[in-house]
Amino acid sequence: MIQSNRISTTKKFVVDAEISVKDVDAFFADDEFCHATKPLKYHATLINKKKFIALEADIQAELEHACDRCGESFIRSYAHHVTLKLVEASSFGTKDEIVLEADDLDVVTYENSEIDLEHILLESLFLEFDEPCLCREDCKGICPVCRQNLNEKACNCVVPEFN
Ligand SMILES: [Zn+2]
Ligand SMILES: [Zn+2]
Repeated sequence: MIQSNRISTTKKFVVDAEISVKDVDAFFADDEFCHATKPLKYHATLINKKKFIALEADIQAELEHACDRCGESFIRSYAHHVTLKLVEASSFGTKDEIVLEADDLDVVTYENSEIDLEHILLESLFLEFDEPCLCREDCKGICPVCRQNLNEKACNCVVPEFN
C-alpha cells in the first residue's frame, strides 16, 4: 500500500518489486484454472499530476492456464506495459473535470489516500487474459462423444448436430 501523499509532483516515485506466487494465486483464486509459475516482476513509476497520479508500469508474469476448449494446461508469458491515471475516489463528483474523465478506461480509483499498487497491477494483468483462453488459436478441443483430445488425434465419432 502506498500513501498518495508520498508521491511528489516533481520526482518520480519508483517501485521495483515482485509479487509472490502465493499472492498472485490468491488474487486469481476465483479463477481456478490460473496459477502463477513464478513471481510477477514489476517496475512502476508514479508521479503526482495534481488531478490524478500517473502510473506507468512494466509487468512480467508467467501463468499456467487451462484451455477453455480442451482442458489441457499451458503456460503463457506476459510482458505488458500499463499506463493508468489513479484518482482518489472521493474527488469524483466534486471536480467537474474529473467527472468527465470517469468513463475513461485508463482511470482507476483509490480510497483513503491509499494506493494498492499490486492490486491495480494484477487487475491490469487480468485484462490481458484472452477470452476464450485457448492453448492455441486452432485448438480442436475434445470430442463430445468419446472425450478424445482432438489435438492429439482424430476420432471417428459421428457428432450429433444440434442445429
Ligand atoms: Zn486447447
Ligand atoms: Zn470421438
